[in-house]
Amino acid sequence: MTDWARARTELVERLGEQRIDDESVLNAMAAVPRHRFVPEGSSERAYADCPLPIGSGQTISAPHMVAIMAALLDLQEGDRVLEIGTGCGYHAAVTAELVGAGNVYSVEYHEELAEQARETLAETGYGDVSVRAGDGKQGWGEHAPYDRAYLTCAASEFPPTVVEQVRPGGLVLAPIGGASQQLVRARRRADGSLDRGRHGRVRFVPLQ
Ligand code: SAH
Repeated sequence: MTDWARARTELVERLGEQRIDDESVLNAMAAVPRHRFVPEGSSERAYADCPLPIGSGQTISAPHMVAIMAALLDLQEGDRVLEIGTGCGYHAAVTAELVGAGNVYSVEYHEELAEQARETLAETGYGDVSVRAGDGKQGWGEHAPYDRAYLTCAASEFPPTVVEQVRPGGLVLAPIGGASQQLVRARRRADGSLDRGRHGRVRFVPLQ
């Protein structure tokens, strides 16, 4: 039988040696059982640092990408966070480890992925993460304002409604582009404009 805890520890050690130096993010990655989120047929590869298919033509991001995004968002306990693109729920669980599950609101386009993610999150102890099926371009107004918002799918630009739901001084993070994408982090200024920075080339599934 696979020793999942050991496989996970080894993955986190590799991430720490390579490029991730944020202790709180590494601890979060060490806590979330990624093998429970990936489809059963893929669980043996859950702790390889690579993306995996999760159904409906979508993929779960590679662990290092989840860690990089969590570090760029500088997530603190108590931050209220909006995620666009729940997928299997893994990234939401890592965010929940950092801010508290009750502070995470995630929107997923595909109803069946949203349903499955809700189930897995509940089974793994992250049942307080809120998941809604719908178009993430509309964000989730009821729980705004957010301290942080991020997309796990690539958009040509930050969706304006999502930006509006982030408080002044808050951060938004997303893969921006089409065939060629950049991870862009932006701080929302009081007047609603964005102070942007680029954080490397990435490859994500497109926003629907
Ligand atoms: N964070 C996820 C990875 C998701 S892949 C995980 O840990 O598994 C990107 C996800 O974005 C897919 O599930 C896709 O269905 C979703 N998506 C694409 N367009 C969307 C939209 N307009 N609104 C909400 N979700 C969307």
